[in-house]
Amino acid sequence: MIPPIASRFVAGETPAEALAHARELNEGDVKVILNLLGEHYDERGPAEDDAETYKQLVADIGDTEVDACISIKPSQIGLDVGDDVFDELLGEIVDVADEAGTFVWVDMEDRHTTDATLDAFEKYARETDGNVGVCIQANLKRTPEDLERLADVPGKVRLVKGAYDEPQSVAYTEKSRVDRQYRDLLTQMFEQFDDGIAVGSHDPEMIAMARDLHAEHGTPYEVQMLMGVREDAQFDLASEGVEVWQYAPYGGKWLSYFYRRVRERKENVTFALRAVLGR
Ligand code: FAD
Repeated sequence: MIPPIASRFVAGETPAEALAHARELNEGDVKVILNLLGEHYDERGPAEDDAETYKQLVADIGDTEVDACISIKPSQIGLDVGDDVFDELLGEIVDVADEAGTFVWVDMEDRHTTDATLDAFEKYARETDGNVGVCIQANLKRTPEDLERLADVPGKVRLVKGAYDEPQSVAYTEKSRVDRQYRDLLTQMFEQFDDGIAVGSHDPEMIAMARDLHAEHGTPYEVQMLMGVREDAQFDLASEGVEVWQYAPYGGKWLSYFYRRVRERKENVTFALRAVLGR
């Protein structure tokens, strides 16, 4: 069982618990992106197992009234085994999801995976006429060009700052420079995309900028934030009429994800200590 200390960031261990979390959030007009925790499988077996779980989950979401979709890490469904395995397993999930009417996001991992991830996204976004989305990272220098390519592809694009440490040869490493590129890319998306813009950030400045760009261009957008991070803001934005999606991980492999969340911000460490000390 997930201890209360970690349940702030993780929506349970089972699909049933994850769906119950989604139902609860839907009551506050927040929609949910479910992610089964797991990544970097170097054998086909575990990648196939997680692909099966996702197929069942997208079918279950389709059978319910829950406003939810899924987000998958490429290395969770075979990218470290081979591009062909990733392509095959993603294709199977996308087929079931398309049939069930459930949207599929593809997360972006480190720079070695960018081309394979974008290629697979483009293939399945075109095949399903836009029932697939992909994440792109503002810290990578290549991203303005990738966005030019994605502007003509159906489906959605989630812009994030980038969670992976990348070398200076391919990425901006200074936070202020990444923030600048994020603002530039947001502008580019609102200028070039007809729809399908997702702002994957907790940063109040970026969210306010998206609101201004929406007022200027009229392009629809959504805001995506992680479970356990600025949840008050998620409900506030939703009550103001902004489309808000919460990215909620679930599954048995919650421990390393929980430590990552706690390590990345001081107030989360304080929160964790308080929970441990019972204060
Ligand atoms: P930061 O630049 O970290 O912070 C800016 C401001 O946001 C802070 O000053 C503060 O005001 C506010 N803020 C940020 N965090 C907190 C907090 N914990 N509590 C309170 N306020 C806070 N990265 C990838 O590389 N690939 C992915 O596929 C991917 N998917 C993502 C999906 C979603 C829905 C989200 C939200 C993020 C995803 N990320 C992904 C992570 C992303 O790249 C960033 O590492 C992460 O979101 C931190 O950047 P930020 O824009 O939220 O804000």
